[in-house]
Amino acid sequence: MPSSSNPTYCCEQMVSQVTHSCETHPDPFHCPDTLVHQSVNNGTYGLIIHDGGSSFISISFCPWCGSKLPLISDAN
Ligand SMILES: [Zn+2]
Ligand SMILES: [Zn+2]
Repeated sequence: MPSSSNPTYCCEQMVSQVTHSCETHPDPFHCPDTLVHQSVNNGTYGLIIHDGGSSFISISFCPWCGSKLPLISDAN
């Protein structure tokens, strides 16, 4: 990852969530500690549903600080 383009997150909690990496669970959808997923495709955020699959609920506000999150679907 180029260090020149550092994405900005709303708060420390969000940073630690989206950058969370777990040695036990290489797939974040398998890790109970990982609550938030950021889509690599469009940058939107979702709350991971730990049902054994890869489901998540799209969220438009940060659960921790309440900041509005980017929703690509809002564009245009
Ligand atoms: Zn936040
Ligand atoms: Zn884990």
